[in-house]
Amino acid sequence: MGNKTPITVAHGDGIGPEIMDATLKIIQAAGAQIEIEQIEVGEKVYLRGISAGIEPSAWESLRRTKVFLKAPITTPQGGGYKSLNVTTRTTFGLYANIRPCVSYYPFVDTKHPKMNVVIVRENEEDTYTGIEYRQTQDMMECLKLISRPGSEKIVRYAFEYARSNNRKKVTCFVKDNIMKQTDGLFHTVFDEIAKEYPDIENESWIVDIGSAKLADTPEAFDVIVMPNLYGDILSDVAAQIAGSVGLAGSANIGEQCAMFEAIHGSAPRRAGQNVANPSGLLLAAVMLLVHINQPDVATKVHNAWLRTMEDGVHTYDIFAEGVSKQKVGTREFADAVIARLGQEPQTLSPVHYSSAPQQVTEKTVRPQRPKANKELVGVDVFLDWTAGTADQLGELLSTLNHDGLELTLISNRGARVWPNGQPETFTTDHWRSRFLSQTPITHAQITALLQKVSEQGLDFIKTENLYNFDGKAGYSSVSGA
Ligand code: NAD
Repeated sequence: MGNKTPITVAHGDGIGPEIMDATLKIIQAAGAQIEIEQIEVGEKVYLRGISAGIEPSAWESLRRTKVFLKAPITTPQGGGYKSLNVTTRTTFGLYANIRPCVSYYPFVDTKHPKMNVVIVRENEEDTYTGIEYRQTQDMMECLKLISRPGSEKIVRYAFEYARSNNRKKVTCFVKDNIMKQTDGLFHTVFDEIAKEYPDIENESWIVDIGSAKLADTPEAFDVIVMPNLYGDILSDVAAQIAGSVGLAGSANIGEQCAMFEAIHGSAPRRAGQNVANPSGLLLAAVMLLVHINQPDVATKVHNAWLRTMEDGVHTYDIFAEGVSKQKVGTREFADAVIARLGQEPQTLSPVHYSSAPQQVTEKTVRPQRPKANKELVGVDVFLDWTAGTADQLGELLSTLNHDGLELTLISNRGARVWPNGQPETFTTDHWRSRFLSQTPITHAQITALLQKVSEQGLDFIKTENLYNFDGKAGYSSVSGA
């Protein structure tokens, strides 16, 4: 073996130190060539008054090694503490969250004995950018942002993951029948990139019926790629129905750095008793070994672990009379896995890792693409207004038409209320008025319009410019329109 790869390790809180010791012992016994840099994160750091739960010096280690094996941490009760995961994800641009959800039937009980799904969740965009506003007495807003490079990175990663893990199909979950611009872009990018991987089957589902199918027939899926919010929810659903939440690991992959962890928490009530199951962290460490290009060690560890599960050597959390043979503690479980290094499972399918997925870089997601011709053709002016009916507002705003920029409609919560609104439509204090022009306009026309809106005593709370891109509307039409 060549040089050792430095990795940053945090032992975390609660059961963290025990499951980390067990994990490191197993992978080192399997021949992992790693050099451990230990850092402290979590409760003690938070309680020292560091709101991110990680010391600045620990960042240096992560910058150096670019690989992070993290045990679960306890977030202290009370406000003011920032999530360490969110901080790490945003600081290092960890754009992909990978969560294999596998059932180990008949050794771990599940309704879905054949399930073997990997959820690839976009990790930086969507409604998770934290851009939210209160706009009126009654209305809150959260911005959903989906970018082309963000979508290209995650979709390409999903196909690269499928290819390097010998998986046959990548499925995309979106809601682009409703969110035609944002989810529509994600879907378009999926279709474009799928063409570059003719060896891998591809398909798309609307997220609602796709989720129903996933919950009912998970064996119909292989790799599923999705935007952040759907991925957040469905990766938990998938792990749960596989019957193995306590056994699942996850990887957070970025261009700069990658972080590997179990999906469960620090289980403080179980801490220090040598009872916790180290499997989730161990399977995360297996993904780490593939990532640092030690696929043979990863294969050896994973197969020995599968064999241990098969042999009925189980920790308390999965111990079941009739199936399990021996109830063991954390350390004994680690020793049982070590004793099986070199063996393969006999009922469950053995795994074989060959290479890490090709890294997706800034370059691969920014190929030369002709720049679209962008024309400003109008503006949506959002108003906080409670002084009357939709028709009255329409009448008032129509008086502001000027220079070709004309009020074309008003909507409330997306439903058209002017012109020709329906009397049944419920309205709030949050109105959108759309001013459009037949020909391109300038910013000056918009500011002149806003000046007039303001002079009418109307409170405009925000505006959205309306652009055409290569002659195609870059904004949604309005329901009821
Ligand atoms: P938890 O996952 O720690 O525990 C849920 C249940 O599962 C408990 O009954 C626990 O005993 C059991 N359990 C979890 N992991 C186990 C294991 N490896 N072996 C055996 N049993 C296990 O969730 P929680 O109780 O909601 O949270 C406890 C703490 O963990 C909180 O402070 C929370 O903020 C933190 N947490 C951290 C992370 C992380 O660091 N990534 C994730 C989730 C929760």
